[in-house]
Amino acid sequence: MNERQIIIKGIRWIKGIKYYVGELISPDGLLQEKEFTENNLREGIAKNSDYFDIEIDNKGIVVKKDDSNFQRLPTHLLINKPTSLRTATSINNLAKYAKDAWGVKIVDLSGLDPKAIKDTFIQMQRVMRDFEFLVGRITEISKRDKDFMGYLPEPDMSGCRITFNTEYYRKLKSIKVAYEAEVSTKGAPSGTEFEHAGVHELGHDVNAFIVQEVQPTLNLRMDDWNNRWEATNIVNEAFVEVELNANIIRSFEEFGESFSDTSDEDVVLLFNLLSVQERRRALVVSISTYAVKKGDEETIAEAFADWYANGDASSPLSKSIMSIIRRRVQ
Ligand SMILES: [Zn+2]
Repeated sequence: MNERQIIIKGIRWIKGIKYYVGELISPDGLLQEKEFTENNLREGIAKNSDYFDIEIDNKGIVVKKDDSNFQRLPTHLLINKPTSLRTATSINNLAKYAKDAWGVKIVDLSGLDPKAIKDTFIQMQRVMRDFEFLVGRITEISKRDKDFMGYLPEPDMSGCRITFNTEYYRKLKSIKVAYEAEVSTKGAPSGTEFEHAGVHELGHDVNAFIVQEVQPTLNLRMDDWNNRWEATNIVNEAFVEVELNANIIRSFEEFGESFSDTSDEDVVLLFNLLSVQERRRALVVSISTYAVKKGDEETIAEAFADWYANGDASSPLSKSIMSIIRRRVQ
């Protein structure tokens, strides 16, 4: 059999969006679970059928009805051949991947280094897998000569544009060297690499999604975003729940030295005697200096980069922020 099959197994709702869960079976028998939105399905063209045993297109994709829980699907079905990120080597393939897998409408990355983009996409895909609602939110991935990467939300927080700076991303070496310089001066979280800039931007989009969920009107969403209401709430909650111990406190740049000869018990006591602002700042700076620069939205984005690079070894506030956020979007 020289065809790929999509077997639709059922329907799953995630944050109010209906996903059709299917198994994609390639000719070599590899099986992969995949979720399709209604839009994905509508975009394709198919014949009507009572049982869904449909040959969709000339690419040999066949869709079949599978189990009894199956709910009748619209008659238009997916025909886009999903591209694989693993095998994508050109900017064109990577753009196709972003369109197919993430539903990005416009991708303009011409002239950029494919390896730099691919490595960034691989990290972004990890975030997409953990926060499935992000799929379909990026409307555009393009170029802009600002920062390393950039994030621009829609005014109603329904999606975003993500950008790469041509100056750095034209050559893998340029972005690597520039990002490493940021890490070495604590501008970016230690342990992160350039590809985690993409994770940082998706951290902003998770923040935007939460604002969209919490605020019912366009004006409130814009006010929230511009004043960082939700971002501050999240960082405050994370600060309250953060887990600290003497060694972590000693590692804080601004206090570490003065605590070097103090017993573990006293370190914790003395730290807790500091003002809330001083303690909060010490925790934020322990992620990166960029995390304090603009405001709490950057702390959240930096926590994402930190966590996806370092996991359990990331800064205590990053870990706490990630657990607050997971709870918020559950
Ligand atoms: Zn940012």
